[in-house]
Amino acid sequence: MMTIARAAAALNNKTITSAELIEQVITNVAARDGVVKAFLKLDAEKLRKLASESDARRAAGNALSEYDGIPIGIKDCIVTEGETCACASKLLENVVSPYDSTAVAKLKSLGFIPTGRLNMDEFAMGSSCENSAFQKTSNPWDADRVPGGSSGGSAAAVGARLVPAALGSDTGGSIRQPASFCGIVGLKPTYGRVSRYGLVAFASSLDQIGPMTTTVEDAAILLEAITGADPHDSTSLPAAKENFVDAVRNASAEDFKTLKIGLPEEYFNAEGMSCEVKKAVEAAVESIKAAGAEIVPVKLPHTKYAVAVYYIIATAEASANLARFDGIRYGARQEAGDLISSYFASRGAGFGEEVKRRILLGTYVLSSGYYDAYYLRAQKVRTLIRRDFEEAFKSCDLLLTPVAPNVAFKFGEKSANPLEMYLSDIFTIALNLAGNCGISVPAALGSDSNMPIGIQFIAPAMAEAKLLQAARAFELIRGDFPAPENC
Ligand code: GLN
Repeated sequence: MMTIARAAAALNNKTITSAELIEQVITNVAARDGVVKAFLKLDAEKLRKLASESDARRAAGNALSEYDGIPIGIKDCIVTEGETCACASKLLENVVSPYDSTAVAKLKSLGFIPTGRLNMDEFAMGSSCENSAFQKTSNPWDADRVPGGSSGGSAAAVGARLVPAALGSDTGGSIRQPASFCGIVGLKPTYGRVSRYGLVAFASSLDQIGPMTTTVEDAAILLEAITGADPHDSTSLPAAKENFVDAVRNASAEDFKTLKIGLPEEYFNAEGMSCEVKKAVEAAVESIKAAGAEIVPVKLPHTKYAVAVYYIIATAEASANLARFDGIRYGARQEAGDLISSYFASRGAGFGEEVKRRILLGTYVLSSGYYDAYYLRAQKVRTLIRRDFEEAFKSCDLLLTPVAPNVAFKFGEKSANPLEMYLSDIFTIALNLAGNCGISVPAALGSDSNMPIGIQFIAPAMAEAKLLQAARAFELIRGDFPAPENC
């Protein structure tokens, strides 16, 4: 499957049509998604129609942009008008969205074709995609391993080259960790950079939509396409239009000569980090140093509280956000005599185990008597975590860290122990709490497992151009990254 950039070039010089691109997706899914199981839904007839409309526009000289006709996979919690949006939950199975999320509307305005519904952990709660109520998605590099989560379907679909790119969402690492596990690029934008309108809310102060692609250039193309202030989301940030694509196209390995890269010591001495991940990240650091970057040690001392703080704040917000799903107005309803019993029955039958755990935890930390001890205190520590980043960025331009302590694990390896699963988010969570941006870029294949390992660059809020530039410079010194076998 071509990258977005290649597909755009091919469409523009008429060596391919949108119909052919869509046909490739349909064929890829038929041939390989039986094993990967990334897609929950794919409406081939509808896609063919959209592709032929796009080809007609282009033939008439009315292409909406150079990207008109390129398919983009969509995570199942980002709504597309007329398509189901189940968030991989039984409670919302068969619920059809009456409107487009702003991110999808922006893609459509450029002619991109939203393609199918991609699997995820139910309501984006999880790190392995094993919490989907419908199916288990496999890692395209090894079918016995998870693709990561919660945007596991998006990562697996792009990693397996079923689609050129996809949208995911990231509340505590859900774009970056599966990107690392599946050998692709995943970018979590600054909080507010992309409108959350039409993204089914998990934790509203942390959620962001972002691109999942095979190259940094494609991440820049998609980011540029979906950013911007939105009257439907009061937390979206007004910002001058920036040219991320040019920032990437003008990047070179030489750029490292002018960059100071901070290595947070807490991220390199973390307990539970596997040898192969440590080796791969250290090798990446060496290569960046050899390219001329100045490497400086920095401290993020409150990182040690990040997982605890996240699982208080995220669950508190989730318990409030998920209160609206009661089976009355939409979704699966269980009639049980009176109204209250019907609520209980619908929620009891519709939500999976992890979602219930989070709702219970969130309700508990918000309840009177515990609010000050847990929620309020977590908010204060969140401020300290944010200040750590501000302090660190006084002595460097960007940070470089691992994405996850391990490569993609086997099915069932962590699902029995929620705490172990939560701890695997240590390197990604802090920056959602701080609100700044980060990108996962494939660095190497693990020396033991032969599975992909990503590195994470972290930039200050709204510094996506610099983040993408550094990620591209790293790609240039790394060279091409392989696709999984048969993809
Ligand atoms: N793995 C984290 C969790 O389970 C992050 C999820 C996310 O970013 N949506 O909450």
